[in-house]
Amino acid sequence: MEIKEIKFNKKYGQNFIFDTNLLNSIVSDAKISKEDEVLEIGTGAGTLTKIIAKKCKKVVSYEIDKNLQSVIQQNLSEINNAVVIYKDALKEEIKNIENNFEDSYSIIANLPYYITTPLILKFILQTKRVKKITIMVQKEVAERFSAKCNSKDYSAITVLLNFYGDVKILRNVSKKVFVPMPKVDSAVVQINLENGKYECDEKLFLQIVKCAFLMRRKTIYNNLQKGLNITKDEVTIMLKKCNIDFNKRAENLTVENFVDLTKAYFDTISQ
Ligand code: SAH
Repeated sequence: MEIKEIKFNKKYGQNFIFDTNLLNSIVSDAKISKEDEVLEIGTGAGTLTKIIAKKCKKVVSYEIDKNLQSVIQQNLSEINNAVVIYKDALKEEIKNIENNFEDSYSIIANLPYYITTPLILKFILQTKRVKKITIMVQKEVAERFSAKCNSKDYSAITVLLNFYGDVKILRNVSKKVFVPMPKVDSAVVQINLENGKYECDEKLFLQIVKCAFLMRRKTIYNNLQKGLNITKDEVTIMLKKCNIDFNKRAENLTVENFVDLTKAYFDTISQ
C-alpha cells in the first residue's frame, strides 16, 4: 500500500506515522513484553499496531474510520495477534473494551489531540486495570501533564495524573514525521499507574482539585470557600490542619497537599 493511496480524513484528526525507527522507539519506550496485553487507540494505517503486535501477547486496536479497513488488513495480513475494532473508543463502554483482555493491560496510542484528555481520564477514572499509558500528545500538553508545582503549566490535570501515577516525557517528536504534517510538535508521554502512592477518597479528591483551580489567580482559601459547601470557619480549620498558608494558590500546592486537604474535608463533612 502506497501512502498516496490513503485518503486522510481531517474530521478524525488523522496524522499518521510511517517512520519505522520512530514507531520502534515508541514501542520500546512503552516497555511491553510478550506477556502483555495492549490496547491501542487510533489504528490509522496499522503501522504502530504491527510493531506493537510483534512485541506483545495480544493487541486490540480501536479505529473510528471504517474506510481504513482495507489498508489496515493489508498492513496486518501476516499478524495473528492483533484485533481491530471499528468503533469510537471514547463512546465504547469500558467493560466492552476490557472484555478483550484477560487481565490488566497497557495502552499505547497516537491519536488526535482533541480526544487525548477525555480518553486518559476515562482510563484513569473508570478502571483500575490499566498498567501504563504511553501516548503521543501535543508538546504543550506533555509539558502540562508533567509540570512542576509552582509553574504556570501546573494545572488540575497535572495534579490528577500525578495522583494516580508517575508522569514522564519520554521523547520529543517533530511535526515533520507525521503524514500529513500537523501544525504543532508532539511528545511521547508515559503515565505509569502501577504503584499508586496516595490513599484518600477519590471523589472528594477530584472535587477539591477542581474547585482549587477554578479561579487560578484566587487564593486556595477563596476557591475552597466558594466551591465547597462548608462554612468559612470550616475552611480555616481545614487549611490549618494541613499546614497550608491561606494565601497560597492551587498552583503552589503539591499532590500531597491536595491529599491532606481531601482527608481534612472528609473529616469536616463526616462530623
Ligand atoms: N496510530 C496511527 C494513526 C494516528 S492518527 C499512527 O500512528 O499512524 C489518529 C487515528 O485515530 C486516526 O486513524 C483516526 O481515524 C483515529 N481516531 C480518531 N478518533 C477516534 C476515536 N474516537 N476512536 C478510535 N479511533 C479514533
